[in-house]
Amino acid sequence: MDVPTAAISRFRHSVVTGGAGFLGSHLCTALLESGSQVTCVDDFCTGRRENVAHLTGRPGFTLLEADICHPFEVDTASPPPDLVLNFASPASPADYLRMPLHTLETGSSGTRNALALARRHGARFVHASTSEAYGDPQEHPQSERYWGHVNPVGPRSVYDEAKRFGEALTAAEARTHGSNVGIVRLFNTYGPRMRGYDGRAVPTFVRQALAGEELTVTGDGRQTRSLAYVDDTVHGVLAMAGSELLGPVNIGNPDEITMQELAELVIELTGSSSGLRFVERPSDDPAVRCPDITLARGKLQWEPCVAAREGLERTIGWFRRHHTSG
Ligand code: NAD
Repeated sequence: MDVPTAAISRFRHSVVTGGAGFLGSHLCTALLESGSQVTCVDDFCTGRRENVAHLTGRPGFTLLEADICHPFEVDTASPPPDLVLNFASPASPADYLRMPLHTLETGSSGTRNALALARRHGARFVHASTSEAYGDPQEHPQSERYWGHVNPVGPRSVYDEAKRFGEALTAAEARTHGSNVGIVRLFNTYGPRMRGYDGRAVPTFVRQALAGEELTVTGDGRQTRSLAYVDDTVHGVLAMAGSELLGPVNIGNPDEITMQELAELVIELTGSSSGLRFVERPSDDPAVRCPDITLARGKLQWEPCVAAREGLERTIGWFRRHHTSG
């Protein structure tokens, strides 16, 4: 991955909560390659040691097994942290529906503890929020000015509301303490190191296509998502880290695709003979999702550059090389 080193070259010690997860592990790699020391904090509720196995033992990399719902500290000897990326949270619906209370606790107490760490050391803090903050949106595409349409008591609320609360905490931290904090609203991101059974559309379709199984498309398959390749999302997050912006700032790929089109594209790119099977759509599943990235383009000079076909080919290549049992 080409790391946008200019944006982040000033950081000497970066802390990534959720660093052993899908996105966190790519962020740890990029930061280490930029010359920063990296402390990866993870409780492994959905993350995997193998995601950071390539970093373990490298100078400057520390793995701290901890649940951020409890106050935590990192090694501050040399040097103290100057960047905290708060990425800890179950993120796939299958995971957060299995761990509803842990998800709420991580977004609330966990975010507060990560903010406290950043404040103690005067570090820049970036909170990973989500397009789920828009719920089942009534505006399309979604700009940061839209406040969202979230069912506060539905099953998905454990994730959506935890993330919205994390945003509120982060904004209040800036108002109360004048801390250097930022919020990114990430839209669906895919790529290597996703778990084949995490329930999200891309790893599910790729796993099924490679196994010659039917691809399970929910509903009538006409609901849309905007899919960003992981390198693009990482670049956007690091651009936000290197800025002084509070945000929230949307980071996502505005190329919209229906779930049926995505399934058919995966079948084509894998050369699979699998067919499609339509299954029941989960409750509160958003009908459409597409970011307005005007703000990121203007303020961060960032925009995604990996097209769906290319990103999916890279992802399929990774899935072919790695057995994905989890
Ligand atoms: P992931 O499940 O692969 O990674 C989450 C990581 O957080 C895991 O390693 C998990 O073990 C860790 N974690 C969870 N709770 C923790 C706790 N209390 N203490 C310490 N570690 C904890 O998910 P991901 O897709 O990499 O998502 C990472 C972050 O980005 C999440 O905050 C998610 O909400 C956000 N996000 C991701 C996407 C996406 O498409 N991948 C989209 C929007 C937002």
